[in-house]
Amino acid sequence: MMRYEHRANQAIRKNDLVQVICGREMGKTGKVMRIQTDRERVFVEKVNMVKKHQRSNAQNRQGGIVEKEASLHLSNVMLVCSKCNRPVRIRFKADKEGESQRLCVKCGETIEKKKGVS
Ligand SMILES: [Zn+2]
Repeated sequence: MMRYEHRANQAIRKNDLVQVICGREMGKTGKVMRIQTDRERVFVEKVNMVKKHQRSNAQNRQGGIVEKEASLHLSNVMLVCSKCNRPVRIRFKADKEGESQRLCVKCGETIEKKKGVS
């Protein structure tokens, strides 16, 4: 399915801080680890943990049950503005180079990854 024309203007990106806005994990915040754009799923660090059975491998010699992040739907998370310190709606604005910048609707702050901060 290629009907997601907003892909270039994707609101949520890897390493963003997001908050879950509905469901079992509502209110939890975490860092975006991975996004599956085509499925509109997002994996957030330490959020929506599920127990998974795993066979023994190099990392886990005993195997057994491990906890892993399960994906959330993109519409169930919202970007957290570092200035507002709360989940906010964002809007897009093209900069001089034509790159779309994400701005917080509330405070107008540009939401981009801080350089040098992991
Ligand atoms: Zn803001």
